[in-house]
Amino acid sequence: MRIDLHCHSTASDGTDTPAELMRAAAGAGLDVVALTDHDTTRGYAEALAALAALPEGFTLVTGAELSCRIDGVSLHLLAYLFDPEEPALLAERELVRDDRVPRAHAMIAKLNALGVPVTREQVERIAAGGTVGRPHVASALVELGVVPTVSDAFTPEWLADGGRAYVDKHETDPLEAIRLVKSAGGVTVLAHPAAAKRGRTVSPDAIAAMAAAGLDGLEADHTEHDQATRTRLRGLAKDLDLLVTGSSDYHGTRKSVALGENTTDPEVYGEIIRRATGAFPVPGTGGA
Ligand code: AMP
Ligand code: ZN
Ligand code: FE
Ligand code: FE
Repeated sequence: MRIDLHCHSTASDGTDTPAELMRAAAGAGLDVVALTDHDTTRGYAEALAALAALPEGFTLVTGAELSCRIDGVSLHLLAYLFDPEEPALLAERELVRDDRVPRAHAMIAKLNALGVPVTREQVERIAAGGTVGRPHVASALVELGVVPTVSDAFTPEWLADGGRAYVDKHETDPLEAIRLVKSAGGVTVLAHPAAAKRGRTVSPDAIAAMAAAGLDGLEADHTEHDQATRTRLRGLAKDLDLLVTGSSDYHGTRKSVALGENTTDPEVYGEIIRRATGAFPVPGTGGA
C-alpha cells in the first residue's frame, strides 16, 4: 500500500484541480491520497466526484492543513477526517482563510511601494478562487520576471517570513486548533516540524505542549527534512507517544516534489482511521 497524506490542489496553492489531483495520484500508483488544502475543505466536492471514475482500490482521505502560530512561530497542522460541517472548526477555518485576502492586498501594496507592478487582479487570477497565499504572489513575481522561480521569491528581499514584502496573517493557536479538530472527530499531525528553510521552527517544548493537548502525530518523512532530522523526529515522536507519518506535500508544478515521494506506513494509516470519527476514507467507485 502506498499512502500519501499531504497534497494540495487549486483549492489552495496547488496547480492540479482536485479532480486532476485524484487522477494523478491514482496514476502515480498511490492507494491512498489525502487532500490537505490550506485552511479550506472547498476542494472536497470535486475530489469526491472524481472518485466515480477511479478504481475501488484507490481511496481519498479528506483533510486540511491549518495555519497556526505558537510563541510567535508559524506552523502547519494537518487535520484528517474531521466533520467539515462542524460549526466551530468551520468558523475558524473560514476566519483564517478569509483573512488571507486583505493580507495578500497588503503584500501587493508593499511590492508596489518597492516598484513591482503586481496587481490584485493578477494575484486573483492566479489564485483562481483558491485559498490565497504567498505562493500565488510568488507566481505573479515569476510572471513579471522579478524572480526566476516561486521559491526564489521566498527570500528576505521579497516574501520570506519578515521579508520586505511579507505581511502576517491570522493564525490559530495550535492547542486550540487540536481541540477544535478533535471535537470535529478528526486527527491531527504536525506538518514538516523541522522545515527550517521556511523560517523559525517550533520548539520541542511547544511540540510537547501540542502532544499534551491531543496531537496525534509528526510528519517526519518530508522532502525538507534530511536523514538526521527524520531520525531526531522519530525519537521525539517515540518520547511523546506520537505517530510518525510521511508525505509528499505535493503542490503540482508550483513545487518540484513528486506525488508519493514520501509515504506513510500502512499501520500508522490504520491507526489514523481508527481514531477518526468525523469522516471516513472514501474509495473509488468506478474503474474495473
Ligand atoms: P502562506 O501560507 O501564504 O504564508 O504561504 C506559505 C506557503 O508558502 C507554504 O505552505 C509553502 O507552500 C510556501 N513556502 C514557504 N516557504 C517556501 C520556500 N522557501 N520556498 C517555496 N515555497 C515556500
Ligand atoms: Zn502550500
Ligand atoms: Fe505546510
Ligand atoms: Fe502543505
